[in-house]
Amino acid sequence: MDLKYYENLKQICTKSAVCLVAVSKTKPKEDIQILYNLNQRIFGENKVQELVEKYEFLPKDIEWHFIGHLQKNKIKYIAPFVNLIHAVDSIELLTEIDKRAAQNNRIINCLVQFHIAKEETKFGLDKSEIKSFFEEALHLKNIRIIGVMGMATFTENEYLIRTEFKLLKDIFNLLQENYFADKLYFKEISMGMSGDFEIAIQEGSTMIRIGSSIFGSR
Ligand SMILES: *Cc1c(COP(=O)(O)O)cnc(C)c1O
Repeated sequence: MDLKYYENLKQICTKSAVCLVAVSKTKPKEDIQILYNLNQRIFGENKVQELVEKYEFLPKDIEWHFIGHLQKNKIKYIAPFVNLIHAVDSIELLTEIDKRAAQNNRIINCLVQFHIAKEETKFGLDKSEIKSFFEEALHLKNIRIIGVMGMATFTENEYLIRTEFKLLKDIFNLLQENYFADKLYFKEISMGMSGDFEIAIQEGSTMIRIGSSIFGSR
């Protein structure tokens, strides 16, 4: 772990009013506890079982973010406690989250993932799917869509990364104008990881998801 890097990153985030999600996937609970002791409260995980185990073991005031691709049949395990689901990319998934949230008497915060990268392997909605998705999504009572999420292409090409982040910011603006004009809670743009968060912050990120630069390579 690189605690010096972490402290430095925390300062950057405070200065630019960006939320830091410490991505602890594959890392032991002890590492999370070390950051917790330094007042980090937001952690990101991408496997349901791993998240549940860590949740049960660690302090209850941790805010757990689910950042990976979520399978419908596993939502029930995290619905009682998850604080934010970053990567909702279908109305079927959102509907199931809504149902499980209702069973737990909760409203679960979600981000809609958009496909902004050139790579085909990355999940997410396309711009062309916005209308059909939001016409249905806005009827659901136990989820709250608080923003968008995206992943840029894994590349050294800064221009391409910047272009993709700009696209996500444009999508955010469009959604805000068309569907959330009177909703102050719609304000999050989750973009930026270890390799590209500086660009993401310059392009309007409100939430960065940092794993390997803090915890070491996986
Ligand atoms: C693993 C992961 C991260 C963190 O990646 P690093 O490059 O280790 O910072 C961020 N977002 C998502 C969706 C991830 O799966």
